[in-house]
Amino acid sequence: MSILVLAEHRRGELRDVTTEMLNLGNRIAKENSLQLCVLLLGADKGFTEALKSVCDRIIVIDSPELKDYSPDPYIKAIKKALTVVNPQLIMVAHSACGMDLAPALSEELSIPLVTDCVDVRLKDKKIITLRQIYGGKVFSELNLKPFDTYLVTIRPGSFEPVKELGKSASITELSFEDQVLEKRRFLEYIEEKIEDVDITSADILVSIGRGVGKPENIPIIQEFAEEIGALLSCSRPVADKGWLPKSRQVGTSGKTVRPKIYIALGISGAFQHQVGMKNSKTIIAVNKDPKAPIFNIAHYGVVADMFQVIPLLKEKLKK
Ligand SMILES: Cc1cc2nc3c(=O)[nH]c(=O)nc-3n(C[C@H](O)[C@H](O)[C@H](O)COP(=O)(O)OP(=O)(O)OC[C@H]3O[C@@H](n4cnc5c(N)ncnc54)[C@H](O)[C@@H]3O)c2cc1C
Repeated sequence: MSILVLAEHRRGELRDVTTEMLNLGNRIAKENSLQLCVLLLGADKGFTEALKSVCDRIIVIDSPELKDYSPDPYIKAIKKALTVVNPQLIMVAHSACGMDLAPALSEELSIPLVTDCVDVRLKDKKIITLRQIYGGKVFSELNLKPFDTYLVTIRPGSFEPVKELGKSASITELSFEDQVLEKRRFLEYIEEKIEDVDITSADILVSIGRGVGKPENIPIIQEFAEEIGALLSCSRPVADKGWLPKSRQVGTSGKTVRPKIYIALGISGAFQHQVGMKNSKTIIAVNKDPKAPIFNIAHYGVVADMFQVIPLLKEKLKK
């Protein structure tokens, strides 16, 4: 028996969530004496080298049809992989592709699916999954009934990437000649134009959330940002309301940033936001709500009204 992790890659690069899933996969495999397999679809051969030491087996199915994610060929290829491996657990990233793929795969294979897991345990052939609800304020544990195979999607950023394990995975290559009649087809990646500033290259970001209240308050923050040599970024509601351009949005549907300092003002810290900024070197959060999830990842936290904190910060910085 085994665990099967679907590697996610985009434009020739393995996505971090793959090695994060392998960290979890290794833990579950070890606890249950299972083999950890990676499924590489249409992937660069270099990926096998990168993954060989952190799993037990790599199944490669290469075909031009699988070069970019497309649901129909992917499902067909996964079914092909399942002819040579019998997993107790299949892991897919809770990414745009994974969210699209997993429900269809669950239906196709008639297996239970739990989405957006932040942890998974396997005990006595049953899985227990951990998910966050109410915007990250509450954890919910699901105990599933026994089943031969489970499918889970794993939230990006929930685990550290797997560290070198010194394994030497066997490689199984499968062919994929069948032409798939696709209902949807990948056409091209369209690069977003940088219309205004590039927040991904900033050393310091002052980021505002819905807590800013109204657009009339933004100049106060803008002035503060300029004084400390920072660029202004935001959470999604601020961009959705048109208070700042979309190019300033941080998160899963915005930009991923890694500044030296990330100052989050009036941002609750929903996981979609955290994914885009959690790797910032120093995170400073100001929020009125002491239970705001942003405090779980902040290095420094201030429970207060941001409009009272900003003048104090300015004063300190002037000194
Ligand atoms: C598919 C999908 C993709 C998404 N992509 C993104 C994304 O890319 N980026 C993103 O950010 N979100 C994204 N979201 C939305 C995300 O789930 C949250 O809704 C969003 O991040 C919340 O933004 P917020 O923290 O600004 O607002 P809220 O959650 O409303 O939080 C506002 C916070 O401000 C605090 N506050 C209020 N007034 C003050 C004050 N005066 N001083 C200090 N604190 C104050 C409150 O306590 C609260 O914690 C996405 C959601 C979905 C479903």
